[in-house]
Amino acid sequence: MQLTIHHLQERLKSWKGCPLAEKSNPVLGEGNPNAEIMFIGEAPGQREDEMGRPFVGPAGKFLDELLESIGLKREDVYISNVVKYRPPNNRDPSDEEKEQCKPWLMLEIALIKPKVIVPLGKHALQHFFKKLSITSAHGKPQKLTEKITVFPIYHPAAALHNGNLRQALFDDFLALKQFLEKGNK
Ligand code: URA
Repeated sequence: MQLTIHHLQERLKSWKGCPLAEKSNPVLGEGNPNAEIMFIGEAPGQREDEMGRPFVGPAGKFLDELLESIGLKREDVYISNVVKYRPPNNRDPSDEEKEQCKPWLMLEIALIKPKVIVPLGKHALQHFFKKLSITSAHGKPQKLTEKITVFPIYHPAAALHNGNLRQALFDDFLALKQFLEKGNK
């Protein structure tokens, strides 16, 4: 039997490997199983915890708008998070929580096989490149393997608190579109 995202979703429901699971609901990624682009956020927030789906709160609405600005819909891409449970009061996930949830993200990447991975913000970027900062790396494609490029972008929630980042996000999405059109060269 071939492993699918649906199987992962089912398995995550009974997983006890991260203490956050005691007080919040599992939120795996979702989207097109054949997506060429995968977006990775930090961790679910309140709305995501309630709905059991990634990026459905205010940051998610802005992400939808950014996707639309380059002619993409959620159904075209795959959207996930580093941590699969909501940290209390939306605090940053700890290194331990990120480490505990890592196998799920690795399995998602292995199943989706994206050509381009877009880490949204520093937590997702540091999953791939420990030493890069989002401030200097955003908008600049980084080769991860022969087949995968990482294209870091600020987290959409950052622009909800800091209006200056809003334009930077639209600019980076445009750069992402141009990169995709060039055939990921
Ligand atoms: N922020 C994230 O990083 N992920 C979500 O799913 C929602 C908000």
